[in-house]
Amino acid sequence: VIFWLPYDAPPWTKGLKGVPSHKVELAQCNTPIQRWNLPGVPDDFEIFIKRDDLTGSVLSGNKVRKLEFLFADAIKQGCSSIITCGGTQSNFCRATCICAKTLGMKAHLLLKTDKDPADVPCAGNYLLDHMVGAHVYFLPTNLGLHEDVWPRMRQLADTIEKETGKKAYTTPPGGSTSVGMFGYVNAFHEMTKQDAFESITDVVSATGSGGTAAGLIVGNHLTGNKVKLHGMVVSDTGPFHHNEVNQMLRDVELQKADGSGLTSEDSINLLDGPIGAGYALSSQDELEFIRDVAQHTGIILDPVYTGKSVFHLVKQLQTNPGMFKGKKIIFLHTGGMFALFDGRMQDVFAEASQKVTVWKEFTDKAPLKV
Ligand SMILES: *Cc1c(COP(=O)(O)O)cnc(C)c1O
Repeated sequence: VIFWLPYDAPPWTKGLKGVPSHKVELAQCNTPIQRWNLPGVPDDFEIFIKRDDLTGSVLSGNKVRKLEFLFADAIKQGCSSIITCGGTQSNFCRATCICAKTLGMKAHLLLKTDKDPADVPCAGNYLLDHMVGAHVYFLPTNLGLHEDVWPRMRQLADTIEKETGKKAYTTPPGGSTSVGMFGYVNAFHEMTKQDAFESITDVVSATGSGGTAAGLIVGNHLTGNKVKLHGMVVSDTGPFHHNEVNQMLRDVELQKADGSGLTSEDSINLLDGPIGAGYALSSQDELEFIRDVAQHTGIILDPVYTGKSVFHLVKQLQTNPGMFKGKKIIFLHTGGMFALFDGRMQDVFAEASQKVTVWKEFTDKAPLKV
């Protein structure tokens, strides 16, 4: 495979266990860090945005950084297909099946929904899944990950191996394993090389399955804890994610089996408010906020992760400024905009049709509306 290259890990990762030996080059890296004139931010704060929404077009967001390592691992193990799971609008599932196609592999997606296939609109991420011909399975939403979903992923992997003689790689939702996590160890290194941490005091990102948080924690810890990390929890709960992150820290041996050493609890401030109505559920306020941010700054946030995170970030800046280590904050834009295209913005722009100028006839004066 042409894209499969040895991974030149940052020198400070040397003592870690399981540093990936290879990486598949799929992400457009060195994404810019820009000043962000976010509305509602108190005057004494400066907000910057790390544009990981620009890591690609359909292969964009934080997931492609994790997939560079997950696919390298899959290839190393001789796998020719990949199995993962998520919701119907999962960014990880979308990115996984597109990566798979790019590398000539097959993707099997276990998507949780109680709807009939005929009732799920082919829109947003789910449209892209079908565009690249992913094999899609619908699972009831009440299934537990460890009790129900993992056994099915393993069974599917076994069946694929028996019937085709080729191995299948399985990866959990969000690709948050100690392998996928290296996407954000690497991104942290990239930000260091961009001199981001010379003046930045805080880094804020969305937390959905913990891999991004874990990578940032490892990078921050091994380079001298220059910044305070904050994770806006948009699925499950803070304690749930601390557990997941701790597992990844144990896998790389920054934490011992007895829980001593580096802990997630001491390394990141996980906030439980941002989830709002529930995972992937939007309130009208959040959707209008996403519209307002776009209209003020040209930055498109997604409804499931970054929109909720920034909505909550602004609230915290206004009501709890002491939570931050300092006044210069980077928000990590982790992508995900395709979920905006699933129809949920319809009501926000219901009156937009009234603002459209219908211009049929050419007259002596342009029908300008200001
Ligand atoms: C998955 C995802 C996240 C959360 O990252 P985790 O590593 O799963 O915590 C944030 N933003 C977007 C757009 C995502 O798709």
